[in-house]
Amino acid sequence: MSPIFAERVVPLFGGSQVSGGRFPTRNELVQEWRLKRHLLMTAAIQAERWGYSYRNVPKRYGTAFLAYRSAERPEDRTGIFSGWNCTFRHRPKDATWPKPCSERAGKDAAFGAGFDFLFGFMTYSNNFQADDISGEFCDVQHPCHECKQMLEPIMSPAAPVSLFRDRLPCDFDEPGDERFVIREMTFGESLRTHKFKTGQR
Ligand SMILES: [Zn+2]
Repeated sequence: MSPIFAERVVPLFGGSQVSGGRFPTRNELVQEWRLKRHLLMTAAIQAERWGYSYRNVPKRYGTAFLAYRSAERPEDRTGIFSGWNCTFRHRPKDATWPKPCSERAGKDAAFGAGFDFLFGFMTYSNNFQADDISGEFCDVQHPCHECKQMLEPIMSPAAPVSLFRDRLPCDFDEPGDERFVIREMTFGESLRTHKFKTGQR
């Protein structure tokens, strides 16, 4: 290979693949997910406070992603990126624009910072909202259909997903700790959580 040609070789996903570095292994990512569990939860809760919607009762969502990339130093290989939902009243609703969900904002934050891969995410919200496809209610919020479609090509079905909200006095057997109801699943399971109605999609 000529040196001129070698210079033209561009990494597939932007410039984050630093020479000499490597990607974190699956075990390292699982360990990072466990170690930084409370950091991820805090990031999601803080992001939720920034959430904004035009509704009279604002619906707020916060999502924190554990993203990763190839790097020389282990501490540069992973990063936590958060996002929140944001819709404005003064802007006319445009169906061709992507929904301004917290998942999309968090993914854009990670990709914008040069982290090309998403290991898992946590979402915090206290909104009980029916599934936008099946109409079913769930005891925690979950990604909408559009966000699942957005994440499906770029996240592994085995990616950990943690959806949590404040624990209410009426919660008894719901999993979690004394403060939060936490539903943990894989991304593949979250895709199947809300079954589509017969004859729809
Ligand atoms: Zn969404």
